[in-house]
Amino acid sequence: MRKIIAANWKMNKLKADAGQTVQALVKGLQANHKAEREVFIFPPFLAIQPVADVLGHNDQKIVLGAQNFYPEDHGAFTGEVALPMLKDCGATFVLVGHSERRHILHESDEFLAAKTSYALAHGFGVMLCIGETLEERENGQLEAVLQRQLSTALTKELVAANPKDKLNTSLVIAYEPVWAIGTGKVAGEQEVLEAHAIAKNLLSKLADDLSYLPVLYGGSVKPSNAANLLALKNVDGLLVGGASLEAESFLNIINA
Ligand code: PEP
Repeated sequence: MRKIIAANWKMNKLKADAGQTVQALVKGLQANHKAEREVFIFPPFLAIQPVADVLGHNDQKIVLGAQNFYPEDHGAFTGEVALPMLKDCGATFVLVGHSERRHILHESDEFLAAKTSYALAHGFGVMLCIGETLEERENGQLEAVLQRQLSTALTKELVAANPKDKLNTSLVIAYEPVWAIGTGKVAGEQEVLEAHAIAKNLLSKLADDLSYLPVLYGGSVKPSNAANLLALKNVDGLLVGGASLEAESFLNIINA
């Protein structure tokens, strides 16, 4: 069954290290790659080109994405990066709604919705991250938070503008409980099963039934817990931060 394994390198790696890591990754995948595992990498902006250069010299299919962008084509947006610039470097996907952008950079649901529809309309795939904080979970707001995050981004208009066969390959959901990201605290099996069932159910009620969209789990994934997580119902893959920085560790997750 199709499983997506994605690496989010966050604000780590200089160009040379990025190139070496992806080179080691390609070599490892050439030696051993479970056929049904699709690999995505989201390097920081300045490492996208060196990663693309390595990928360009190899047949290994790895989807290259960016961790962020600004939803305008060009213009007076100091410090921002536009999709044509990312395309120029070889990126085809973008992360939207990562909790670090929601909570540290204060990106609102509405801004994230605008980014989602803009990226899809301009030929990019979107990995849309959703997830509750510990406080929201403890207040019994898990479902309400996922509902708000999904329904604000995945509107009827967005679905009308993007046919199912397009969304099927260009929209991925990643459930990442904020309290499990970078904390070493992986969500328990029951918590993952519950949240993914909620996400799939919410997706089924959106627009024309979006429950076919893959839902990844993210939050302190490691080689030691990847296989168990991948075996859970409604877990269509993994989004990996810290444990994706070393090629060997990420390879063990890909092939778990
Ligand atoms: C992430 O960055 O999306 C993430 C899940 O990080 P980590 O695996 O380090 O918790």
